[in-house]
Formats: sequence, C-alpha cells, structure tokens
Amino acid sequence: MAAHTGAGNTDDMADGTAEGRPDGAARRDDAVRAAVERGLVSPAAPLVGLLDTVGIRASAAALRAAFDAVAAPGTAVLHAFAVKATPLVPVLRLLHREGIGMEVASPGELALARAAGVPPARTVLDSPAKTPSELREALALGIAVNADNPQELTRLDALVRSTSTRSPLGLRVNPQIGGGSIGALSTATATSKFGVALRDEGAREWVVRAYLDRPWLTRLHTHSGSQGMPLELMARGVAEVYGLAEEINGRAGHRRVDTLDIGGGLPVNFGSDAHTPTYGEYARLLAATVPGLFDGRYGLVTEFGRSLLAKHGTVLARVEYAKSAGGRAIAVTHAGVQVATRTVYAPRSWPLRVAAYDAGGRPRTGPDVVQDVAGPACFAGDLLAEGRSMPSLGQGDHAAVLDTGAYYFAHHYGYNSLARPGVYGFGPDGAGGVRFAVVRTAQTPDEIVAESGGAHVEALTWR
Ligand SMILES: *Cc1c(COP(=O)(O)O)cnc(C)c1O
Repeated sequence: MAAHTGAGNTDDMADGTAEGRPDGAARRDDAVRAAVERGLVSPAAPLVGLLDTVGIRASAAALRAAFDAVAAPGTAVLHAFAVKATPLVPVLRLLHREGIGMEVASPGELALARAAGVPPARTVLDSPAKTPSELREALALGIAVNADNPQELTRLDALVRSTSTRSPLGLRVNPQIGGGSIGALSTATATSKFGVALRDEGAREWVVRAYLDRPWLTRLHTHSGSQGMPLELMARGVAEVYGLAEEINGRAGHRRVDTLDIGGGLPVNFGSDAHTPTYGEYARLLAATVPGLFDGRYGLVTEFGRSLLAKHGTVLARVEYAKSAGGRAIAVTHAGVQVATRTVYAPRSWPLRVAAYDAGGRPRTGPDVVQDVAGPACFAGDLLAEGRSMPSLGQGDHAAVLDTGAYYFAHHYGYNSLARPGVYGFGPDGAGGVRFAVVRTAQTPDEIVAESGGAHVEALTWR
C-alpha cells in the first residue's frame, strides 16, 4: 500500500469530492483573482493559460497510489505521461519530479522530455510512423520502443543485429474491442490505424511467432482507452493483451514477455469539478477483471495523458465586447479556436464549462442569461459556448474556460495568426497568497513573422 502524505487521502484530493466547494475550484478562484490583480491578464494581454501545480501534484500522487494499492509489492510500475497531452517542458519537469515518466511519439516530444531532464530509462517511444533515424536514436539512447507493425519490426530486426542496445522493445497490438463515443479518438476499433490488429485472420498466430523468434521482444503494448470510452471496455482490452502475453509465455516455456504496457486513455469528466472516474476505480476494476496483471510476474507501464492534466488548466480571457444579435447576448472574448480547437470544431464531442468572473477577477454572480461565448477568430463558428445559461458577461469581465490543461492551450492552432498565449503555473506562496511562475511566454508579433517565412520575404517574387 502506498503511504498517503500531506492533506489526507490523495485519491480523494484529486477526486475533488470533498464537501462543499472542491479544492480545485477554490484554488482556481484565488488564482484568477490574483492573475487579474497582478496584470497577468490585462487589456494588453487579454488571454492566458493557468496551470494548478497543487492539482497536478495531487493527480500524479493519486495515479501512483492507485496502482500501488493493487500491485504486488515490488512490482515495477512506470507511469509514463503522454507528452502530447501537455507538451510544456516545465510541466514535464514537474511530473518527473513527482515520479512520472514520459511517453513520446515524435522527435519533438522526445526533445521536450530530454529538455525536462527525463532519463531514457523512464521514457517510452510509441508512434505509428517512426523513421529509421528515430528508431536508431531511441535505441542508441536506450529508450523503450513499441513497434507498431510488421514493417517496423523488420526495421528493429536490422537495428538489433547491427547495434547493441539497452532499449526494452515491444509490439503494439489492437485488441479490436470496439470504439467509444468519439470516433476520432477510438483506438481499438476493427479498422484502427494503430498496432497489429489481433483479430484479423492469422494475426494472433503471427504475433506469437514474432515473439518466439525474437528473444529481445519482451514487451506487449496496447492503448485502447480514450475520452468517451467506458472503463469496462478499456479493462477488456487490457485483459485481451494479458491473455496474449500468457499464451506467448506458455508457448515459449519461459517469461518472454516481462512487461505489459497498458496505455492511457482514462476519460475525464468535463461536466463538473469532480475527478471521475478515478485512477483508483480503474485500478480496482483492472485488478478484478485481470487479477494476474498485478501478481508481480509482469512489470507494468501506463501512459495516461488527459486525466493527469485536464482538470488543472484554465484559459482566462478578457471580454473585449458584449453585444447582442437577433436577441442573443454575445460575449466576444479572446479565447476561441486558437486555444480550444477541438471544442470549436466539434462542440458536441468536446463541450467545456465556462465560468464567469468580473472585471476584478471575482466570480460573477447574478441571474443566468442565455448567451454565446465567442472567440476572436474571423469565422462564425468560433464559439466556445452557444446558448449557454450563465451569469451575464459584460465588457471587461473575464471568461474562464475550465478543464483545459490537456489538449487545449498547449496545442495552439495558428488561425488568424493569433498569438500563442502566455502560460503561468500557480501555487501557494507560503504566506497565504498565490505565487505564479512563467511556463511559456506569450508569442510576439515578431515571432509570428519569423515563423511565417519572414526571413524569406522575396522568396516567391522571381520571374
Ligand atoms: C494519446 C496516447 C496516450 C494518452 O491518451 P490520453 O487519452 O491523453 O490519456 C497514451 N498512449 C498512446 C499510445 C497515445 O497515443
């Protein structure tokens, strides 16, 4: 069992299910007020991202505690954060300091993990399209690699023959257990592009042979969860992979597969401040569905992304104008498609809560008004919320877009050449106040010009 330290049970803390106002909401209110008072958000800087360091720490602790509680003592467990969820170096560094490794899926993500000081032994490389040089670099560094398909396994064959490496090597399989409610995020459908499709004709036998023929192939990987996926289906995917490992090891006559990488994909509750489902629930469901997973025979790797960070991020935007059209109130803010791309393009799949704060950064009270919360981009659909009933947002007020710590402001979309906002982490200052730290500075117009071919201004004018 993991020891709980500090303010009570970490699982419950991260759950935010305490009586009354959840801790995360209280910390957010304090941070919004302080950000306004100190000018982090202002008429000149009308958009920022905020990250709750206390919440991030609590979620990391809850994840570790959840698996410690069900795994046999001494089981090697690496929780590798899916860097794509929040690719910001200080965030990776914080998670590393909290005992979390990294899952990377591109040369850029690997560079971020290395810049954060994460050692190769705590890094895992997955991706469906690794180049030969990426594979070579990973093996030279000793980073764990999960091959996606037979062609990639052939590349690994050649590399393993020609170099010596400490990299643990595995193969990704798709248990084809079916998708969740969001098609674009469902990784375990019959025709998903990821991994070796286990139920296809002859595939299972091919996979078993691939392991029997390769003494260095010691890991088995799947990532079947995602937003919109029921936990029971995720656990069934893990059970399929566990069964395959048992079959391989039975036929090999020894423990050929020694580590199971069960992926990430715990869904996040975007409807309230409650952290549900919890890591504890998922770990207990896994233990009940796949008891052998935790009996100490297998090392484990997890790859959670969204569930570690989503609830700890807030987009804070000034309301530039408040207007009305056709009887509909519209708050025109600085947060739109550039920081909430998925929500703007697929609002039904990705609804976000918007909290209203006044010009001084205090929670807005007052009667609910049906209104649109709009972004700054020049297309009609750039809306964060449509017909939302909430306290009326006036000019100079602030709209806070909640649960945006993963896949939102860290994933800037350059529509209208809108600048990447600054990102600040916040936490207690030790004297009852809020301390801020710069995570990323705001992009400047000069940087936008430089990134948009500014150095090649005459490049196309030849004749
Ligand atoms: C995206 C991804 C994850 C993380 O998924 P979340 O839904 O953010 O937890 C983990 N593993 C792989 C292979 C991924 O592609």
